[in-house]
Amino acid sequence: MSIFSHPAYDKHEQVAFYQDAKSGLKAIIAVHNTNLGPSLGGCRMWPYADDGEALNDVLRLSRGMTYKSAMAGLKLGGGKAVIIGDPRKDKTPELLRAMGDFINTLGGRYITAEDSGTSVEDMHVIGERTKFVSGLIEESEHGGDPSPSTAYGVFVGLKAAVEHRWGRTDLAGLKVSIQGVGNVGFRLARLLKEAGAELFVTDIFQDNIDRAVNELGATAVGADEIFDLDVDLFAPCAMGAILNDDTISRLKVGAIAGAANNQLAEERHAAVLREKGILYAPDYVINAGGIIDVYYQQQGDYNPAQVKEHIDTIGTTMKEVFQRADESGETTAHVADRVAEERFGHEDAVNGALKKTDSEAA
Ligand code: NAD
Repeated sequence: MSIFSHPAYDKHEQVAFYQDAKSGLKAIIAVHNTNLGPSLGGCRMWPYADDGEALNDVLRLSRGMTYKSAMAGLKLGGGKAVIIGDPRKDKTPELLRAMGDFINTLGGRYITAEDSGTSVEDMHVIGERTKFVSGLIEESEHGGDPSPSTAYGVFVGLKAAVEHRWGRTDLAGLKVSIQGVGNVGFRLARLLKEAGAELFVTDIFQDNIDRAVNELGATAVGADEIFDLDVDLFAPCAMGAILNDDTISRLKVGAIAGAANNQLAEERHAAVLREKGILYAPDYVINAGGIIDVYYQQQGDYNPAQVKEHIDTIGTTMKEVFQRADESGETTAHVADRVAEERFGHEDAVNGALKKTDSEAA
């Protein structure tokens, strides 16, 4: 397997591999960029088919974190960790402690937090071995879990997409399909339901589907059927690479706005969406609520009102991205990348870009 010439390697500063025979831990930490600060990103646990799949995932996710934090105006770099294994079967305190030891070897260049397959409780166990862990402060009303903030941020960004696409500020009667009603997807579904949207959901776990159907009156659809629905907006909240040649040709929606990381299978799919007239809310812009929350937890002075205020700026940033894309004819994904790269590329550009955004938002 190639590393430095890996298609997703980009300009990673560091990629570390770790194996602990006693606990069975096999994990990778990728640090993409630390220009703006230490890299911070979740620790995902997933039953990857092979090491190559895990490496590809961690590289793509880590790079995404650099762009996400820069775009959200945070003094953080981008990194991510993956544990190879099934969180429902293979997760043990011993394995999580070994993960803490692994994180510690990086000396603070990488700070971990929750992601798919890991919980607040898991962060406490990891925290027994390293101080470089966030997302576990008791003061936040959700005990450190960033998912509610991610869901709220997606909701804010989704409303900006609806306003840009259809010129309306309410969501009453809007038909929304959600792929994955887990930590983020379910909370997003609840916010959408409260705003009057009509929900269509799928998941690979029946208990998650049942919860959305029973508690929110959502309509359950098949895992593959989600791409064929005649709905207004699609919110991917499960895994990445779900916007590809096959699925895009089937989508009938006018906009895509969801939490999943790395939704585009390849960069060129942003242009395919644009040609089809589908407005795409770049994933790392819309799903930054969680990292914003974790950032304030890491700062040590957690104030829910301040966090919410910062997350609300996702709406402004999103509108700006949409508008610039319209003006320049570029894809929304390309516009977002350009702004983020200006921000983490060098300090002058960072300050300039942030000032510009602030004044434009004012
Ligand atoms: P989660 O594991 O709680 O939820 C994901 C859900 O998707 C699960 O219920 C799972 O069963 C379902 N799922 C998986 N594959 C599926 C498929 N093929 N079809 C339908 N459903 C499927 O994870 P989460 O924390 O809700 O995160 C969801 C997505 O958002 C992930 O891509 C994650 O990286 C991203 N994200 C999460 C956060 C956060 O704060 N949790 C922050 C930023 C981005």
